Amino acid sequence: MNKNIVVAIDGYSSCGKSTLAKALAKKLHFIYVDSGAMYRAVTLYFLRKKIDLSNAEQVEQALQDIHLNFHSRDYQTHITLNDEEVSNEIRQMPVSEKVSEVSALKIVREEMVKQQQRMGKSKNVVMDGRDIGTVVFSYAQVKIFMTADPKIRAERRFKELKAKGETVTLEEIFENLAHRDYQDTTRKESPLKRAKDAIVLDNTTINREQQLEFALERVRPFLI
Ligand code: C5P
Repeated sequence: MNKNIVVAIDGYSSCGKSTLAKALAKKLHFIYVDSGAMYRAVTLYFLRKKIDLSNAEQVEQALQDIHLNFHSRDYQTHITLNDEEVSNEIRQMPVSEKVSEVSALKIVREEMVKQQQRMGKSKNVVMDGRDIGTVVFSYAQVKIFMTADPKIRAERRFKELKAKGETVTLEEIFENLAHRDYQDTTRKESPLKRAKDAIVLDNTTINREQQLEFALERVRPFLI
């Protein structure tokens, strides 16, 4: 049977998951899916529409009104929310501050997981997130769990946002990452945890090329 290959990359916030996932997908000509962008786009919609997260009916209706689409250009994440390009706005602090609360909702996760599973059903795919190896593609051939020193992660994110002209402090970023990690690892629905068969990649001290080689070594046996 010629089954498609799935590479699941999970881990803490701002660990370099998407950088590695993009590089890997580009190298292998796989599809890249940034699952976090989906939760972020849903959060942006909820913020704009002032959705009350404790109101199940409102949340359910909002989810029905949301249509997400990825447009892959040179392996960068371009996501549209009801046909509006929101790729930049979803990275800004208001969304980062709310996204873990929104993504803890069971109904939100069910809808996103359904869409993610559809995307990786018949094509070779690299997907990064928090529950890809444990829930979305528990059968993934390659599972990588990424970690990195919290200070390094905050500094990297700070530089990225600064380069985009965001007014944000390093402390705010550090707090946000710690808060999201706490919420993501302690939530009831699909908490972030390492799948038993995932290999840990600590990228605190290794460079991008080394990370890519680490991942490629794991995928190569399946590329026949
Ligand atoms: O990957 P990124 O940091 O953009 O994800 C934003 C947030 O979306 C995470 O902090 C987490 O709360 C949520 N998320 C999730 N499950 C995923 C991907 C992201 O709960 N598969």
